[in-house]
Amino acid sequence: MNDRILMSSPDVGEVEERYLLDAFRSGWIAPLGPDVDAFEREIADRVGVAHAAALASGTAALHLGLLTLGVRPGDVVLTSTLTFAATANAIVYTGARPHFIDSELESGNIDPELLEHALTELHDAGTRVAAIVPVDLLGKAADYTRILPIAERFGVPMLADAAESLGATHRGRPAGSFGAASAISFNGNKIMTTSGGGMLLTDDSDLASRVRYLSTQARQPAVHYEHTEIGYNYRLSNLLAALGRAQLTRLDSMMARRRQVRDVYRALFAEVPGASIFGGDDDAEDNCWLTSVIIDPGEAAWTAKDLRAALEAANIESRPLWKPMHLQRVFANAAATLNGNAQRLFETGLTLPSGSALTDAQVERVAAAIEDFVDAGV
Ligand SMILES: *Cc1c(COP(=O)(O)O)cnc(C)c1O
Repeated sequence: MNDRILMSSPDVGEVEERYLLDAFRSGWIAPLGPDVDAFEREIADRVGVAHAAALASGTAALHLGLLTLGVRPGDVVLTSTLTFAATANAIVYTGARPHFIDSELESGNIDPELLEHALTELHDAGTRVAAIVPVDLLGKAADYTRILPIAERFGVPMLADAAESLGATHRGRPAGSFGAASAISFNGNKIMTTSGGGMLLTDDSDLASRVRYLSTQARQPAVHYEHTEIGYNYRLSNLLAALGRAQLTRLDSMMARRRQVRDVYRALFAEVPGASIFGGDDDAEDNCWLTSVIIDPGEAAWTAKDLRAALEAANIESRPLWKPMHLQRVFANAAATLNGNAQRLFETGLTLPSGSALTDAQVERVAAAIEDFVDAGV
């Protein structure tokens, strides 16, 4: 049996080894240290924001972002239904209730018209909406040009879930720089990784200090550890920050590699009836984190599920798009404003191996397996 090909495995090598060892040998093993400070500065510069707080995960960044924007128990927070559970979980950690908004069909990102509709209804009902959390799905930034004016008109702060979109831009502006704050993730499967980690990005210095304070157990400046509110242990370790700094030096080349892999799939599916690359042709500003194909079963005579089974038989990992949050049992009682698109994308989409660590031989193996399946199927 051939080795298993994974969707998005960590892309690390000699550069990462060198940065990590240097940090280890510097003696900064205790959580914080100079690599954390440098990593925060480098990411803030890259994204073009004033402040970055390095945290243990993207989920922690979402949680503290919501808390510092004033989200409280009983509030409503609007977010995209087509996302990874972490977005919705972080809302629940604060005691607020998520209200899910459906997607634009082409990008899968939050539909600004539905968002506006939900805000109007909630406003008329006298419900306090404490924050809006759009998600940049699979590395394509949400339509902030349309979302931000709506959020502003209703006076609701926006926290962007940019966990999947580091390196992408929207109309020339980097993902992670929109709204009051953004959360990014360095989880093992993301475009760059610290094995586990995240950051809160913002131009607001008060918000950044408050995130740092809450992430280090809300310690007041007193030698005896004075506490006046509940804190968290959410900081990123210095060793992992060193790994992140190494990855950041390679971010552009890792993005270019993912785009190459996408182009192979695009060429492959161009001739296949009913199959199209998710996100459309207009992906010049995406970071190409993951590439998915959308299968119209009426036209293709086979389904995304069939393709997944064929790839699995060749020991190649693939997955449907995120199962929408409003279809998850754990969120069955949450409110939602729907148009059916997220469910349709979930049912017709398949995410293919997309990692920058894929070798040419591995990409060829995936392409050959897809070709064999398509040839046999039509
Ligand atoms: C990965 C991810 C997160 C969570 O990031 P972690 O670092 O794994 O906690 C949040 N939102 C989205 C959309 C993600 O893809």
